Amino acid sequence: MSAARRFLVPDQPVGSLSDYRAAGGGAGLDQAHRLGPSAVVDEVRAAGLRGRGGGGFPTGVKWAGISRADGEEKYVVCNAAEGEPGTFKDRWLMRTNPYQLLEGIALACFAAGAGGAFIGVKARFTVEIAALERAAAEMGEAGMLAGVSLTIVPGPDDYLFGEEKALLEVIEGHDPLPRIHPPYIQGLFEDADGEARPVIVNNVETLSNIPHIVANGASWFRSFGTDSTPGTMVFTVGGDVVREAVVELEMGTPLSHLVYGVGGGLAGGHHPLLVTNGVSNRAVLASQLDTPLDFDSMRAIGSGLGSGGFTVYDETVCVAQLGAELSAFLNRGSCGQCPPCKLGTGEIALRLRQMAEGSAQQSALEEVAAWSMRVTDANRCGLGAGQRAVATGLLVDFPDHLVAHSLGQPCESDRVAHVPVIDDWDQEAGRFRYRSTA
Ligand code: SF4
Repeated sequence: MSAARRFLVPDQPVGSLSDYRAAGGGAGLDQAHRLGPSAVVDEVRAAGLRGRGGGGFPTGVKWAGISRADGEEKYVVCNAAEGEPGTFKDRWLMRTNPYQLLEGIALACFAAGAGGAFIGVKARFTVEIAALERAAAEMGEAGMLAGVSLTIVPGPDDYLFGEEKALLEVIEGHDPLPRIHPPYIQGLFEDADGEARPVIVNNVETLSNIPHIVANGASWFRSFGTDSTPGTMVFTVGGDVVREAVVELEMGTPLSHLVYGVGGGLAGGHHPLLVTNGVSNRAVLASQLDTPLDFDSMRAIGSGLGSGGFTVYDETVCVAQLGAELSAFLNRGSCGQCPPCKLGTGEIALRLRQMAEGSAQQSALEEVAAWSMRVTDANRCGLGAGQRAVATGLLVDFPDHLVAHSLGQPCESDRVAHVPVIDDWDQEAGRFRYRSTA
């Protein structure tokens, strides 16, 4: 862990409520009861906290909407279904300090006037679920969750479970198929008249920030990070780096620090070719490693901050083969409700794989470009847009490599790169254990 200023990730996991309280935990709730709900919303808004699940939407704006919404019955939903390849930060936060997250949920309920809260979490995250259940029992007994009916909803392993519209479907007992309308239009538990209950959806890291903001104030929070993206973020770095890690850094820290400072650079004299950030963003090139890690700087280079899970690939990787793997992953994850998404991800994966094998038609490159334009047509969720960002990025950034492959040249590299779906942190090895995505 870096010695940089941080507050979300503790040096040691917080093992009990008394340890949490001894470190200042609970001060956010105390302060909230002094301030009142609308002042809590104002504080979060003034802090400029932006959602850490990938979108970067201002949390205070989201909260202001629900706090003004009509109706007695409102809900807070925590998205804990982390599944973006290369990302392990929400799981790390739940493991190391579940109390902080639950205090954040209680504060969100207080601010929004919500009496119910759900945590949507993958059923296979058994360590995290146990930590949440332990913390909920202790905090409930201590009265810190008064007025909040908290339900932990274990869900499927599908990539789409982490998509907020699909998450709401799972909470209602359905399959993880993204609905048409976003949560601010269609909430939870629609009645016979088509009226749903208002809901806000925030991810684990976003909610974990809340106790600190409420306890210490917006100005304190803004002393971290950049003007447009205040605070810190919990990043994951993995792949061809010497040291894989989960680390909390101030927003605005250059990506190069994550790769070389935290990750220790690349082993064996290799150098980075590209760095992927999940499967929804254009990859970052070695020449762009000085880019500050904040929403606007990452967007300015055509990529995105996403959920901050960076995987480094060195120069031995075949870009066509990696692109084929990423597209095939998206194709498997696509639910098929929008045909251009399901078809397009499959067609792109097929052509990139043929290019990597040296068996592609000469038209393959053009066809990948054409499918990248169409894959987002009539999409209900962002999966197709992720495919477009990944594929067009590779086409623009590696034209020579891909043209050579589309002319029938197989790759000289025999390396097979995989989609970095993290299974767990291997304490003994000090590295992540990855899941097979074949
Ligand atoms: Fe399913 Fe793709 Fe449509 Fe999303 S865009 S709802 S993944 S078919």
